[in-house]
Order: sequence, then structure tokens, then C-alpha cells
Amino acid sequence: MAKRTNKRQSTLPEPPKPVPALETPVARASFFTIYLIITIIIGLGGAAWYRSYLEESNLSSGETETAVWKVVELPGKGFGMVAKRNISQGTTILREKPLFLVPASIRESPERLIASLVSQLSPEKRRQFNALSHHSNPDSTGEAQMLAKTQTNAISAGDMIGIFPNTARLNHGCSSAFNVAYNWAAGEQELVVQAFKPIMEGEEILTTYTDTKRPRDERRQYLQGAYNFFCTCSVCSLPPEESKRSDERLVEMSRLKSKLSEWGSKDMGGGEATNIINKIWKLGEEEGYWSERGSLAWDAVQVAAAHGQEDATRRWALVAEKWFSIELGPNSLQAKDAANIIRRPKSHPSWGARYRVKVESPAF
Ligand SMILES: [Zn+2]
Repeated sequence: MAKRTNKRQSTLPEPPKPVPALETPVARASFFTIYLIITIIIGLGGAAWYRSYLEESNLSSGETETAVWKVVELPGKGFGMVAKRNISQGTTILREKPLFLVPASIRESPERLIASLVSQLSPEKRRQFNALSHHSNPDSTGEAQMLAKTQTNAISAGDMIGIFPNTARLNHGCSSAFNVAYNWAAGEQELVVQAFKPIMEGEEILTTYTDTKRPRDERRQYLQGAYNFFCTCSVCSLPPEESKRSDERLVEMSRLKSKLSEWGSKDMGGGEATNIINKIWKLGEEEGYWSERGSLAWDAVQVAAAHGQEDATRRWALVAEKWFSIELGPNSLQAKDAANIIRRPKSHPSWGARYRVKVESPAF
């Protein structure tokens, strides 16, 4: 959603261009998502994008339960999605077509547009839409309420935003607490939700609504303001000492990620850049933060390729391919791109763009 950007942002520009633009496909997607969200928020009237809970009426639908998950009421949290059985890492939790998509730029009245899209839905799909709740404009009715439901539940889908009633049931967890990621598969025109961690039977299936690589108090403040809830996820509920250590790791991961961007402006060599990537990986391992590993390894692929290091390029591409497959699915464009580089490291668009120097291989 707009609220849920599922950040997998790369920090690296592609040499030899000195402009620190976001160049990798994943990064472009993230950048565009952020741009899109801003556009849509402005376009739809500047309302906040809040988290929704399901209304009870929707629970009778067969679509609130599959072989691997079901929607249940959770104490103090409203409704959420829990695993019906043990789910292994890399499992596709669901694939979902949108009820409707909304273009990035809207010339007409957003209320009218949404009302028109809703009126074209089948009775069952309209029921699913009506069952979504909203916090941005609680007392609204009619077209204003439809707009509020859209604002609350929209998820970015390429250069559009869409309404995905099943994915909308995923609650939020910070850092090590969230276990699934979703990704818009442009070819299939559907949202794919992948378990990037093993999930135990009965465990809640959680995504993240924001980049949680920041201290607990900041995360909570942001989530309260943007989504109207106080986060009590397993990371936010850690005892003070553990919470402090978690905060330190997350802040350091964030600092190192932004430092990594210096490689793009040529102020940093490939050895240092890949050393930083290994450090981020290690911190993520200690923290239990496994998301974004594909894009992190893909950054390393770019560094290794630019510095003409065939063996390191292939090694990092193997890591990228593994984690893109887990987090985005084996058929994702990102996993396929990585697989191509494993076969032909020198085919990377950045190959040899910078001076030849040894870089670090994966240290794990
Ligand atoms: Zn939390």
C-alpha cells in the first residue's frame, strides 16, 4: 500500500555515472513506489494512509482462509492472518489480483473515480471492498467512504495502486518480527506474498508497513501517526536491554546503508563497499532482520562487477538469486537477472566500469 511499501531499496548507483540515482531494477521500483505514493497521497486529497482492520462481515468469505493461512481475531489487535500449518521459507502465501487499480495521476475527482471503479465490481468483489474498514475519515459515507477505504487499504502495484482484500489482512511487525514480503509481479499483474522466514503453525503472518531500521520509539511514533496503532510486535516488546541492543543494530544498519551510497560517487572503493555489505549482513543476522537480503547482495554484485571481479560477482549473484527467490519468488525478474549474472558475470551492465580492484566475497 501506499502504506506498505515493502522497502527493498538499493543504495547503489550504477557507475560510471556520477549521479547518485537509484539504478538497479529493485531500487527503481522502490524509488518509483515512493514517488507514486506521494503523488497519490497528494492526488487523493492528502489524507493519511492508515492501517485497516477487517470488519467481521468479511470473515464468512471463503477467501479469508486457504490451505496455509486463515484470518482470525487476535486479542487487542483486531483481525490478523495466522499460519494453519508450518510454512517453509520461500513459500508463496498468496497471489492476488487487485479488485481494481487506480492510475498514478488522476485528473478527475478521486471520489468519482473510485465510485465508478467500485460500481463495476461483481457483487462478491463489491462485498469484499465494502468489508474493508478505514480510519482516515471514520464518519464518511457514500463516495467519500469509498475513497477513505481506498486510502486506507491501497497497495502499490507498479505504477498504479491497487486494492487487495486478502493482503490487506496482514498486520505489521518491525525488524525481525515480520516474516512475509509482497511484490507486484508486473507480468502476471498480481501481488505475490512470499514467506521469507519459516513460519510455525499458529504464528501470525506479518508484513511491514515501513522501513523499520530505526529505534523503537521512532518506529512507534511513526506507526501511531501514520496508521493509528501502538506497535506491540515482538521487537517492540523486548525487555529494555535487549530493545536497546536491537535499536543499536538497526540504527547501525541504516547508517551503513546510507554510507554505502558513497561508492556511487567514487569516494569509496569496492573493497570498502563490500566490507560494509558484509557488516550489514552480519548485523541483520544478529538482529534477525532477513528482509532486503536479495537487494543487498545485488548491490554487492554491482560493486564486484564494476571493479571487474568475476569470481566475487558470481558469488554475490548466487546469494542474490537465492534471496530474491525467497523474498520475491523464483520467477521474479530480480531472481532471473541474478541467475543470468551467475552464468555470465561479465554481462552485468556495470562490468569493468571502474578500476580493477579486489573486493570482498560473501563472508557468511
Ligand atoms: Zn514493532
